[in-house]
Amino acid sequence: MCGIVGYCGYRDCSDVLVDTLSKLEYRGYDSAGIAVFENGEIKVKKSKGKLKDLKAKMEQCGKPVGKAGIGHTRWATHGKPSDINSHPHSGEKVAIVHNGIIENYKQLKEFLISHGETFVSDTDTEVVAKLLGYFYKKNPENPLATIQSTVNELEGSFALGIVFEDFPDVVYATRRQSPLIVGVGKDEYFIASDVTAIISYTKNYYLIDHDEIVEMKQDGVVIYDEYGEEKTKELMTADWDAESAKKGGFPHFMIKEIHEQPNAINMTIKPRIFDGMPNLEECGITRENIKDFKNIYIVACGTAMHAGMVGKYVIEKLARVPVVVDIASEYRYRNPIVGEGDLVIIISQSGETADSLEALKLSKKMGAKTLAIVNVKGSSIAREADMLIYTHAGPEIAVASTKAYIVQLAVMYLFAFQLALAKETINENQCRFLTQELESTPKVIEKILAEKLDMTQFIATKLISADSLLYIGRGLDYALSMEGSLKLKEISYIHSESYAAGELKHGTISLITENTPVIAVATQKNLLEKTVSNIKEVKARGAKVILVTREDFSVDKEAYDYLITLPKMHDILMPIPTAVPLQLIAYYTSVERGNDVDQPRNLAKSVTVE
Ligand code: GLU
Repeated sequence: MCGIVGYCGYRDCSDVLVDTLSKLEYRGYDSAGIAVFENGEIKVKKSKGKLKDLKAKMEQCGKPVGKAGIGHTRWATHGKPSDINSHPHSGEKVAIVHNGIIENYKQLKEFLISHGETFVSDTDTEVVAKLLGYFYKKNPENPLATIQSTVNELEGSFALGIVFEDFPDVVYATRRQSPLIVGVGKDEYFIASDVTAIISYTKNYYLIDHDEIVEMKQDGVVIYDEYGEEKTKELMTADWDAESAKKGGFPHFMIKEIHEQPNAINMTIKPRIFDGMPNLEECGITRENIKDFKNIYIVACGTAMHAGMVGKYVIEKLARVPVVVDIASEYRYRNPIVGEGDLVIIISQSGETADSLEALKLSKKMGAKTLAIVNVKGSSIAREADMLIYTHAGPEIAVASTKAYIVQLAVMYLFAFQLALAKETINENQCRFLTQELESTPKVIEKILAEKLDMTQFIATKLISADSLLYIGRGLDYALSMEGSLKLKEISYIHSESYAAGELKHGTISLITENTPVIAVATQKNLLEKTVSNIKEVKARGAKVILVTREDFSVDKEAYDYLITLPKMHDILMPIPTAVPLQLIAYYTSVERGNDVDQPRNLAKSVTVE
């Protein structure tokens, strides 16, 4: 949530800030702002709305001209989106941008008010700006000490970009919980919430740890630890290229990212398959160290949690280990029954999801081993976990996740195969066969993308005026439908629910009318007959049925109105190809309804607040 950036260099700072913010807009887009040093003075421009509104404002009234500054794109947590609540916020001779939540802002605000401060916004962030000003007045020669005294008082999460009027062309930054990196170019330096923002300028960056303070000038950057001691950090190199953060001829990032799925799967699985067998040793996973786990918990949020649902079915089926899937924000607060001998798998695209990170820490404290599945290198979750499998989806810009989900599935399969081998519930030949099937999924997806765009687009035209939709399926189809339903909700704004097909008649079937389209997923051989019976039950009550099934299954024509068939694969692998038409249906429905596909209302990617 919220993207922050900062720049010190030789280019036009306002342009760089706007450009780098445009790569972070997926993190929030209800207002934007920048603060730039112009002739030694801090000039602030900010505006409610998207970055384009800020740009329009600056085109009309002029942009600040300078070589150093900070910028922000907001996803409001405290105070509605408005010009006043937009960042940067100011205190005495200081301006800041902030990503996160200051949990004790009320107490701090009262304290500051009692010392004569006044506030203009409703944000928690302004409290930090005023507190910096308060400490700065006491020690005006020393920004570092000012920042230290300030963060010592803060509770909650923050990444801050800070500029002091008396220190022109110097940008300071610090973080706790919220992510922050420092980009290192030639005669130019950047701060950003993630690497995507700066990748077209430099691929080299430092990861900033909790409570470290960054001091950035045009001629260099110094990083201090929490005691003010200078630190030497390892320079990292991003393996994402600048092109992947552009639309590359597609009308939206989402459809581009759907098309990138075959490559993303290949990038993720190929390095982990040797001689036709899964090999996760580079991730710290061997048959020996996983064979004794008694219970597995998969803890995640949103789409990642849905990947975990598929993982549960696959692991239980193949490795015969009980798996509980839990929503991170629930798991954390209900004293979970987890401990030694258990494995907790945390899945998160960004690796910064606040609830998932806390769930991970809690699991470790309770004695469980942890495995993280994340897409962002060096992210907080990646650094905390005992074992780590990176997905290699590259940067995902559309807020609705597609390629990051599919590679989470791919990793769940690799892990399940490895675990089943370790538990000796499958033999090497079976494992080899399943691994081969997994390796063939990119080709199968390519075929679906080549053949099914028109049909899914046509189906979308039949959904655009529905008020509500149901997705139904059994077993793996049910687990997958949860994600199909979420995708549609997120970007089309049509209400939908995913239901276990056999559970419908225990209540939910009363919702079925002629205006309730049903997307039925039936790709599992052993459940086909049962699912078809459930489909007929909704059809008999007037629902229009879109059936997603396999080419090799024959289903009575009376059971559906529209049909999408998919290439045949082993049942257990079917969720991977089946995800694609569901993503496409959601995408085209959103397009047909004229919505902002990549930046749906009220949402933000990378949920770094609770
Ligand atoms: N709490 C800050 C605000 O509402 C920052 C929000 C965020 O990082 O998501 O402005």
